[in-house]
Amino acid sequence: MSDPAIDEVLRLVKITSVEAKVLVWPAIDPPFWMSLLPVNRPHELVMLVHTDERLTGIGHSDQAGDVFRGGSDGQPHLANASRIVPDAIAPLLTGEDPLQVESLWQKIFALTYRHHWNAEGWSRSSMLSALAAIDMALWDIRAKAKGLPVFRLLGGEDPQVPMYIAGGYYREGKGLSELADECHQYSAHGYNALKVRVGGMSLEEDVERVRVIRETVGPDMKLMLDANEAYDSDTAIEAAAEYQDIGIYWFEEPVAWYEGNTGLRKVSEAIEIDVAGGEQTATHWEAAEMASEAAIKFMEFDCMRTGGPTEWLRVADVCRRVGVQMAPHHGAHIHAHLVAAASNGLIVEAFPDPSMYSTPEELEFVRWDRKRELFSVHPEVRDGSMWLSDIPGWGIELDEDVVGRLEVKE
Ligand SMILES: [Mg+2]
Repeated sequence: MSDPAIDEVLRLVKITSVEAKVLVWPAIDPPFWMSLLPVNRPHELVMLVHTDERLTGIGHSDQAGDVFRGGSDGQPHLANASRIVPDAIAPLLTGEDPLQVESLWQKIFALTYRHHWNAEGWSRSSMLSALAAIDMALWDIRAKAKGLPVFRLLGGEDPQVPMYIAGGYYREGKGLSELADECHQYSAHGYNALKVRVGGMSLEEDVERVRVIRETVGPDMKLMLDANEAYDSDTAIEAAAEYQDIGIYWFEEPVAWYEGNTGLRKVSEAIEIDVAGGEQTATHWEAAEMASEAAIKFMEFDCMRTGGPTEWLRVADVCRRVGVQMAPHHGAHIHAHLVAAASNGLIVEAFPDPSMYSTPEELEFVRWDRKRELFSVHPEVRDGSMWLSDIPGWGIELDEDVVGRLEVKE
């Protein structure tokens, strides 16, 4: 006869269902521009993993590849989003123990190289984005089941995580004085690190922009440049020589895609400024190659674009071995947990919180965080840092009303 007490201890939590929601915000008009591309219409793939213990894991991914690829009308195509989860992923998860994060990760990852994933029209990138959101939800459940925030579950201790603001985007009607006004606000709001775009204008004009920004924010603000791969390696070397006396902490993605890690290494070795990259790497294999072959100092692997926290931790491990620090792209509220836990975790990237601005005019040229409204509970931003709470899991709650308003259904 079985002992009910032992049965209770041995009973596994089981996944009962997986729910995917596609959220799309109104287009930003006129758009903000990175160095070469407009900022896409904001969108999000939200993943809820439900269990028979009434624990629900929350995951989300903001780079869902083909899931959101829009047509010429600008509307997202939802066919992939609506099929990948119920057809490919949910059957692999339902009935499984959500605490087995690693084995479930392997099962889903295998969809990217096994029979029929391509025949169904699912791209590898959309599968990896879906995996990112699922893996994030599984870590949420794992931490909630242990009653710990994720960073403490991973061995982290300090809830204060350094943060920088992403700003200085190009926009129609935005001249040097508007740029200075924007950057002055960052100083006034207590941020102590700022990353701005270069590579979208002539080198002369961009140098002038960066000089104005440095004069505005003063000598103590940590200032990074992101070229979004706009230069060839020779031009990147020339540009770095112009920027270096302005006091630049890192030069991000300085080299065009076709030159690869060889071009990045050429630049890294030729310039005085340290180089950052890796926001587009898809796996820890790819990130390891970049960390060792490109001579970068900062790795920006984004666990919400691809692979999830499980893969991010592997990336941190391979980067630690070659002395590369982790400075993940976007998703500060999630990446902060990982940065807090990794011995080579450095800093997270955030967009400005619109609630800190008193008038809409002040926000006109700021690429503010439209997705902040998704959350009724979110880590606090104070004194230029992100402060993680002791709420179990990722420490976030979705605002169901907002999710309902933004959800797009076929
Ligand atoms: Mg970047």
